[in-house]
Amino acid sequence: MNYSLLTIVSYIIGPTLIIVSHIGSLLILITGLSWGSVLWIVLLYVIRMLATTAIYHRLLTHRSYQTPALVLWVGCIVAAAAGQMGPSWWKAHHLNHHQYSDQDQDPHSPYTPAKGLRGFYWSQGGWLLSPRFFPAKLPSNVESDLVLKVIDRLHFIPLVALGAISYFIGGVEYLGAFFLSTTLLFHGVQTVNSLSHIIGKQPFITNDHSRNSWFVAFLTLGEGWHNLHHAFPSSSRHGITICAGRVVYLPDPTFSFIKMLEFLRLGSKLRVPVETDLLARAKNRHFEDSGLPVAVETAVNS
Ligand SMILES: [Zn+2]
Ligand SMILES: [Zn+2]
Repeated sequence: MNYSLLTIVSYIIGPTLIIVSHIGSLLILITGLSWGSVLWIVLLYVIRMLATTAIYHRLLTHRSYQTPALVLWVGCIVAAAAGQMGPSWWKAHHLNHHQYSDQDQDPHSPYTPAKGLRGFYWSQGGWLLSPRFFPAKLPSNVESDLVLKVIDRLHFIPLVALGAISYFIGGVEYLGAFFLSTTLLFHGVQTVNSLSHIIGKQPFITNDHSRNSWFVAFLTLGEGWHNLHHAFPSSSRHGITICAGRVVYLPDPTFSFIKMLEFLRLGSKLRVPVETDLLARAKNRHFEDSGLPVAVETAVNS
C-alpha cells in the first residue's frame, strides 16, 4: 500500500510515544507515588484496556456484537488513548494475525521470524520497530467511515490529551503515573501476542499455538483465553474451556462489560458459540450414546 507522507508521520508518532512513555515512567522515581496516583494508574489501565478489548478487538475487528455508531466512535477514541494506534491500523494487523497465525505473514508471532527469547521480544513489541509496522493494506470498511478514519490518523491526540489532563490534575507525579500506566498497558496488551501463544492450555483444536492463559487473562481482562478466541474468533465471550468433557465458563471481565452494554441497550446481537459446537471443536472428543460429541479432558500442552 502507498501511504501518504502525512499518514506515515502520523503512524510513526505511535511507537515514538510508547518509547516516551517508557522513559517518562522514570519520573515516579523522583516524585514517588501517593495512593491517589496509584489509583490513577489502575483506573487508566482498566478503562483503556477495556476499550482495547471490548471495542477495538471484539467489536471493531471481529463484530462479535453490535452497538450504535456513537458507542463505536467514542470507544475508539478511548482505545486510541491507550497509545496503541488507531482503528484502521489496529484492525488491519489483527486480521492478518488471524489469517496467518504463527506463519511467516503473522505480524507478531513468537515463532517467526525468530524463536526463543528473540521471538518473545519480537512478539512483545519488537515488531513495532520493524517494516512490518506498516500494514500491507488498511480495511476498507474502516477507512470508509470518515469518523473512524479521522480517529485513525489523529490517534495520538487522545493519548497526548490524557497526559495533559494527568498533569493538570496532579502535576509531575500524575504525569509520571500516566506514563507508567501507559507503559504497563502496552506490555499487558502485547502479552496476548507473546505469552498467549507460548504458555497455557489448548482445549480447542486450532491451526496455531494459541493458548488459554489465566495469567494473560488477568492482565487483559479476559483476552488471555486466547485458544478459545482462535477457535471461535467471532465469539463475544472468550472465557470458555473444556474440563472433564464439559463446557466450563471462565472469568471474562470484557464479556461482563459487553453484557453491561447489552443491559443498557447499548449493545446487541452478542455472538456466543453453542455448547455442541464447542464440544465438537474440543481436543480428544468422543461421542456419547446420544450421538452428541463430548470432550474427553484435554492434556496440558505446556
Ligand atoms: Zn493470537
Ligand atoms: Zn482476534
